[in-house]
Amino acid sequence: MNHDDLNHWSKRAADWARDYHAGLRDRPVRAPLVPGATAAQLAATPPEAAEDMAAIFADFERIVPGAMTHWQHPRFFAYFPANASPASMLAEQLANAMACQGMLWQTSPAATEVEQVMIGWLRQALGLPEGFTGTIHDSATTATLSAVLTMREAALNWQGNAEGLSALPRLRLYASAETHSSVDKAARVAGIGQTNLVKVPTDGSLSMKPGALSGAIAADRAAGMLPAGVILCAGGTSVGAFDRIADCIAVAHAEGLPVHVDAAWAGSAMIAPEFRALWAGVEQADSIVFNPHKWLGAQFDCAVQFLRDPGPQVKTLGLRPTYLETAGREEIVNFNEWTVPLGRRFRALKLWFHLRAYGLEGLRGMIRNHVAWAQEVCETLRALPGVTITTEPRLSLFTFALEGDAATEALLSRINDDGRIYLTQTRHDGRYVIRVQVGQFDCTRADVMVIAAVVAELMEG
Ligand SMILES: *Cc1c(COP(=O)(O)O)cnc(C)c1O
Repeated sequence: MNHDDLNHWSKRAADWARDYHAGLRDRPVRAPLVPGATAAQLAATPPEAAEDMAAIFADFERIVPGAMTHWQHPRFFAYFPANASPASMLAEQLANAMACQGMLWQTSPAATEVEQVMIGWLRQALGLPEGFTGTIHDSATTATLSAVLTMREAALNWQGNAEGLSALPRLRLYASAETHSSVDKAARVAGIGQTNLVKVPTDGSLSMKPGALSGAIAADRAAGMLPAGVILCAGGTSVGAFDRIADCIAVAHAEGLPVHVDAAWAGSAMIAPEFRALWAGVEQADSIVFNPHKWLGAQFDCAVQFLRDPGPQVKTLGLRPTYLETAGREEIVNFNEWTVPLGRRFRALKLWFHLRAYGLEGLRGMIRNHVAWAQEVCETLRALPGVTITTEPRLSLFTFALEGDAATEALLSRINDDGRIYLTQTRHDGRYVIRVQVGQFDCTRADVMVIAAVVAELMEG
């Protein structure tokens, strides 16, 4: 296979992609779950001789699509979306064709500069003040890890990087139980330890209690521990919880602690000004992560971290051995110094295509529709005898349950085996509940209303 063949097969792949997307509504959303079925169809040993692309492509069509869970299916209501607008997919194909490694400005100036401009566009789109810069990571998990490593090192005056943590005071982080498990993972991986991530109690609205936060910090200081930072939740994964950002940041900053806000999912909604009250005060944050690949519609993977001052993070993560030195002006940014990996893909290109192809007004319209349709289907479900709405819609996410965990769990399996829609579960207030989130790029009101029809039909068992 050479580049002339690539031309032929790229066209073939483009045709396949068009047909795949056009036919998605006819496929079950979730893959039929038969462990080992796909592996059993692949050769057990690698080929010694080159094979024809025709044979490889035919095997792909025969084996793979039927064993996929279709994240771009318009009736994907599970987890959170991992979207891929057609314009962002096209940009990814162009980025693939150039296959750059954008670790330094000079290893692809366009990759760095498009990224800088896209961070600026998104800052404006979300209504964040001037002064925030930022970078693109692969995932919110990596962005949060970067923020936590920075909190660790700032608290230790960069002694941890130099000497390791063993001789240093015990560090403490603070977050509510509604924050994503990526915060727990960051505490583990950063060497702080999961038990030193203090889960601050929440109030009836599922916000961290600011008074409990200041109490926890004071108690830890009195016990000789070293508070390092606070991670706040703006749209939790389980049921969409929001901390009262302004009040919690005020407490953290009064204590001299930096704040990272995890808005991986809900950040996209902030392109619509009417939702910004949910994270009021966010402009005081030191770091914010949101994933344009979730609700905003840009192709996975794309996680944006905004930073009020990149200095501490660059001091924590940046290394400049001779082979990475660049001759150049002071103002050149080498983004590898802002992130954990050295190598980086050209992710900004898909944001440029995506934002231009749909426009902020188009994307706001999509998000407003999703929120309205989620509320509408929530009311339809509420009216079904036997259904309880267990958490009210926060943006486009709500949960419901039947009487008793066993009945709810059985209903969820029937729904997902049926395949017309795909929903997933969480536990809230000790109860097994079914999550519904609306956020797929191509979904329509009719797709969303199928949720109520399927639940009503399958509730009977
Ligand atoms: C999805 C999600 C994450 C993790 O995102 P990745 O990009 O997959 O690491 C973190 N926090 C919240 C609130 C999320 O919804």
